[in-house]
Amino acid sequence: MASAPEIARFWIDTDVCLDQRSCVIEAPDLLDDRPQSGGPEIISRDLDTHAKYLQLLNAAWACPVSAINVEFADGSVHNGSGDYIKSLCEELG
Ligand code: SF4
Repeated sequence: MASAPEIARFWIDTDVCLDQRSCVIEAPDLLDDRPQSGGPEIISRDLDTHAKYLQLLNAAWACPVSAINVEFADGSVHNGSGDYIKSLCEELG
């Protein structure tokens, strides 16, 4: 199994988010519904377990408009539009 690259931070681009909640279903320990529109609420940024780490990657992969951005410790930023997040999900999941 590949080693999991460290994640420095993540954020949601609310300008493109469609509010249709795929990410909330994929990452229930990190994201929750917001009563109003504007994208899901980040309820935790703690990626202290492998399960939460994978939840974030799967949410980023599942987002239909690639609104979830993940910055890795090397400074690179990825979202669901490229192959990197997908390949990590497949390798580490
Ligand atoms: S999956 Fe993407 S578009 Fe859907 S609510 Fe989450 S961030 Fe927004």
